Amino acid sequence: MQDYELTIQHALWRIQRLFARKEVVTKQESGVHRTTYGEMVPRINRLAGALKRLGVKDGDRVATICWNNYRHLELYYAIPCMGAVLHTLNLRLFPKDLEFVVNDAADKVVFVDQTLIPILNQLVGKMPSVKQIVNISNGQPLPEHQLGELLDYETLLAAESEQFEWPRLKENQAAAMCYTSGTTGNPKGTVYSHRSQFLHTMGVLQVDNLALSEKDTVFPIVPMFHANSWGLPYACGFAGCKIIFPDRWMGDAASVVELAESESATIVGGVPTIWTNVAGYLEETGKRLPKVHTVICGGSAIPRALMERMDKLGLRMLHAWGMTETSPLGSTATVRSWIPPDQALEARLHQGLVVPAVEIRIADPATNEELPWDGVAFGEIQVRGPWIAKGYYNNADPEKLTKDGWFRTGDVAKIDPDGYIQIVDRTKDVIKSGGEWISSVDLENAIMGHPKVLEAAVIGLAHPRWDERPVAFVVERPEFKGKLTAEEIREFLTDKVAKWWLPDEIRFIDEVPKTSVGKFDKKVLRNGAKPFSEAATAAAQR
Ligand code: ADP
Repeated sequence: MQDYELTIQHALWRIQRLFARKEVVTKQESGVHRTTYGEMVPRINRLAGALKRLGVKDGDRVATICWNNYRHLELYYAIPCMGAVLHTLNLRLFPKDLEFVVNDAADKVVFVDQTLIPILNQLVGKMPSVKQIVNISNGQPLPEHQLGELLDYETLLAAESEQFEWPRLKENQAAAMCYTSGTTGNPKGTVYSHRSQFLHTMGVLQVDNLALSEKDTVFPIVPMFHANSWGLPYACGFAGCKIIFPDRWMGDAASVVELAESESATIVGGVPTIWTNVAGYLEETGKRLPKVHTVICGGSAIPRALMERMDKLGLRMLHAWGMTETSPLGSTATVRSWIPPDQALEARLHQGLVVPAVEIRIADPATNEELPWDGVAFGEIQVRGPWIAKGYYNNADPEKLTKDGWFRTGDVAKIDPDGYIQIVDRTKDVIKSGGEWISSVDLENAIMGHPKVLEAAVIGLAHPRWDERPVAFVVERPEFKGKLTAEEIREFLTDKVAKWWLPDEIRFIDEVPKTSVGKFDKKVLRNGAKPFSEAATAAAQR
């Protein structure tokens, strides 16, 4: 067989030759911007020419600090296809983390959406590697900044030819990189190769995975800086899907629903908090999205109550699991043919079945001994495969790889005999009470099943007798504000979790703090949490 290099250039070839007529739609302040892959290709060629003129060479890191929009998609194609490395910056990082990331990657050029210039402005004088900053705008007046001379995206493109001679790339060269959000310590960079992105795309497309077809209109509501928007942009290029971008209106349920409806989205993707908002909005307004056949949801576990609500709204959720270091797709919860209909919901609530090309095991984190797939034993998920990281950029972190070459995910799970994975917790979130483990995720999901509860996050707090005990932070649904008691929640939990799992305290809050990508931020909760009261501690010691 031919020695064909697996590169992202193949996606570019497909959108040009096969899918030129397919649309790329981006929400704007008023209305939408509409283009096609066919119109985009000459712009991608011009962009590659501009990058070359700016002195970008093979392997150089080119950063983007952009929302989900068509120009970001142009960068997704031009940067890796001309041999450089697409480094998507997480625009919600703290300035000190952003500074670390830009310097760790030694980015040479930064492309910034004009509305995000204030973020970059916080790093003035702190990005020595950055030679040029390119501003992307629709011609609105520039905000004040101290970044020096900015180049203009459209002016750069206008000066270049519509033709570009793409270099021959090697499949193992770097194509893109993404940093983890740094919930502990500095963010860590994962570098994706062309080959890993190509194979991951093929994995995403499979029918028993995310099953994108040319007939689909895909609406990724997951940021393009978050694990390459779960691989959806390239998958759309391979399959030829129409793609819809929310730009900066990602968290606004009304605008998400309106865009999905007006552009006839069939597949949408986002973390559970997005769907909690969307479900509330649909229930309130009576609107529905009958054309959407799949709601891809991952990033954190889907609470049962949410999946049931979404089912009632006619929105079928497809649960997926992964992480930045796994490109990210690791598993999808499709329902196997032998599962009886009355157990389908249960199967769909799992994190699912590992995708082809990736191997999985669970192991005792201390001894690394492999544990059985019996649905009872739980241990750390370890994975290996062509789109799984082996270490971090500039930081080999040998601890992350076992001696026999498996990547340690830090997620704790059980696996049943059919291969269905159920995540119990993250190793750092699991609550160690008197030598036994309590799953914070299970407790949260049980509490979120209460009809008066909007959100619940559970953490372990230091306890003199049991090492740690669970404390639940609960947000009531707006219509039940002040009308829910801790006793009511405890009562509700009695037949759902073991007695010794019942939270020692239930604290009501207005909102669960979220990470940069919309997940519950337990670090913030932990840091701000009042310890158990002296009275409770004294009682426990008696
Ligand atoms: P961050 O570490 O900043 O959250 P990632 O997006 O890489 O960035 O997060 C990956 C982690 O998110 C996984 O290791 C896992 O703990 C969690 N996660 C992802 N998908 C799921 C899911 N479907 N169910 C439970 N946890 C999930």
